[in-house]
Amino acid sequence: MNTTPIDPTILKSIKADGLLRDGHFAFRSGRHAQWLLDRDRLLADPEFASHLGYLLAKHHFVDKIDTVASPSIWGAGLAQWIAYFLEPKAKVISATPLDGEITVAPGLESHVAGRRVLLVDNIIITGITLGRFSERLTAMDATIVGVCTLWNSGDDELHGYPVHGVLNSMNPAFAPGDCPLCVTGPLPAEVVPY
Ligand SMILES: [Zn+2]
Repeated sequence: MNTTPIDPTILKSIKADGLLRDGHFAFRSGRHAQWLLDRDRLLADPEFASHLGYLLAKHHFVDKIDTVASPSIWGAGLAQWIAYFLEPKAKVISATPLDGEITVAPGLESHVAGRRVLLVDNIIITGITLGRFSERLTAMDATIVGVCTLWNSGDDELHGYPVHGVLNSMNPAFAPGDCPLCVTGPLPAEVVPY
């Protein structure tokens, strides 16, 4: 699990902008956490989104990323910031949903085949969508370098790739049976629909 301390200004912004609810929450992944992040508004402010994108890019500065790839439109906005802050700048691709399948538009194939790809989504809930996307990309001869997100509610690895959640260090997602809030907290876990 990532334990890098978070920039205090990020924490301050999240609290000041009301981007979280404090409590005790149970997610679909089975994990519990103290904060419920407002996933719809986390990336609504470009200044704040750029800070988060920079932190994620920084985590992957030495990974020689060619392409940042996202399976969702929410992740695509974050992917733009990450790719922008990498040096040299990476390309960005996002998935095209087609008949219930995750596909990559033909014009983007050259950014996948033989490339070093960083997978990104805004929030990882169970990792199922990202897992399917990674299979699609590796079938196209991509090398997946890692997975990153604002907050990961799932496992620390996805298909064997390490998952980095930039906000997990200040809001850990506790594995079932490992949640200190269940033991000492005053509130029972509130079930979150995602
Ligand atoms: Zn709990």
